[in-house]
Amino acid sequence: MKKPIYLDYHATTPCDQRVVDAMIPYFAGEFGNAASRQHVYGWTAEAAVNRARTIIAHAIGGEPASIVFTSGATESNNLALKGICENVRESRNEIITSRTEHSSILDVCSALEKKGFTISFVPVDKIGLVDVVELEKMISPKTAVVSLMAANNEIGTLAPLEEIGAICCKAGVLFHTDASQAFGKILIDVKEMNIDLMSLNAHKMYGPKGVGALFVRTSMHKSKLRPQIHGGGHESGLRAGTLNVPGIVGFGKAVEIAVAERDVESRRISILRDRLQQKLVEIDGAFVNGNSVHRLSGNLNIGFEGVSALSLLVEIKNDIAISTGSACSSADAAAGLASHVLRAVGLSKQAALSCVRVSIGRYTTEDDIQTAVHCLRSAVETLRQQSSQGISFFPPSTTKESQPA
Ligand SMILES: *Cc1c(COP(=O)(O)O)cnc(C)c1O
Repeated sequence: MKKPIYLDYHATTPCDQRVVDAMIPYFAGEFGNAASRQHVYGWTAEAAVNRARTIIAHAIGGEPASIVFTSGATESNNLALKGICENVRESRNEIITSRTEHSSILDVCSALEKKGFTISFVPVDKIGLVDVVELEKMISPKTAVVSLMAANNEIGTLAPLEEIGAICCKAGVLFHTDASQAFGKILIDVKEMNIDLMSLNAHKMYGPKGVGALFVRTSMHKSKLRPQIHGGGHESGLRAGTLNVPGIVGFGKAVEIAVAERDVESRRISILRDRLQQKLVEIDGAFVNGNSVHRLSGNLNIGFEGVSALSLLVEIKNDIAISTGSACSSADAAAGLASHVLRAVGLSKQAALSCVRVSIGRYTTEDDIQTAVHCLRSAVETLRQQSSQGISFFPPSTTKESQPA
C-alpha cells in the first residue's frame, strides 16, 4: 500500500539521511562508553559527544558545559521543573506557566501541585500569546520559576521570549522554556533572551527519537537543580546513565544542518504553508487558529465549521497523514476530548473538535500541498453532504467535556 503524504512534522520528523550517516559509525565500530576514561574506545565516544555538545551549545549562544543530555524534551521538562522545585526554599512554592503548554509541562505541574506547589496560569489571548503585562504583575517572592514554551506545538504561536526573559531577569526568578518545536526553526539566544533553562529534543528537527537536552545556565548547576535520575554522576551529576552516543551524535548533526539551512528552509516552508492556508480558507466556514504573524513557518491549524475533525481524518487517512493536535494527546482526541490548547485560546468545544493540525517540513513538496488541498476540500464536502442527509457529525462520545489541564 502506498503510504499517505506525511504532513505531521510537529509530531515528529523523519531523520535526515545526513543525520543517519553521521550516527552509523557509533553503533558498531565506535561503540565506546563515553564515560570510559581508560581507553581509546571511551575517548573516541567522549570526543564525539563533546563535539555535539559544542554544536548544540553554540547554536543557542550557550557554553558547552550548560548542555545536559537527556532522553528527550519530556525528561528535560521533568528535570527542569522538579529539579528546581525540590531545591528551592519553602517560601518559593509557585510555578507560573500557561494553559497552552505541552502535557509534559502541565502534567509535571499537576504532580508538583500534589506536593504542595501552587500553579498559576498566565492568561493567553485568542492567538495564543501570553499576556506579558499580566505575567509581570503575577511574579512575586513566592515564584520559583516561570515556564513558558517557545513555540506552541498545536497552533505554532511563537512566544516573545526576549520580553519574558527580561521580566523574569528583572524580577530575579528563573525562566524555563520548552523549545521542542522552536529549536532549529527560529533563532534562540539564551543570553540575549535571559533563558535560565531550556528543553530541547532531536526528533522534532530531523534527528533521532529518544535524545534531547536541557540547557542549564552553568551558574545554577547543582546549587539550584536537583537531579531526577541518580547513578554514576554523568552530565555534571545532573543526569546519570550511560550516554546515548549515536543519538547524541545525530542530534549534533541535526542541529548543524538546521543552523546552516534554517533561513532558506523556513522561507520555503512558509510559502508552502501560506499557499495551503490560502486555498483552504476558501472552503465555506473555514477558520485558522493561532497567530498569523508570529507563527512557526510549517504550522497550520484550521477548523471547518460543522465538520468533525475525527471524521475528516478517517476520510483522508489513505492520502495525507495529519492530526487533530498533539500526538501526546491523540488518545484524548480519540475519546472525543477537545484540545486543551484550542479551549485555552477561547474556542468552544464544538469548534475545537472541528480543527486539524497540518504541519509542513523539510520534505514537503508543492505537489504534496496540492494533494492536501484537494483531499481536504473533497473530504469536507463529502462530510457536509452526509450531514445534510442526516448522518451525524458528532458521535455521542464527542460531547464529553475536556479534562481541565
Ligand atoms: C514533542 C514535544 C515534547 C515532548 O518531547 P519528547 O522529546 O518527545 O519527549 C515536549 N514539548 C513540546 C512542545 C513538544 O512539541
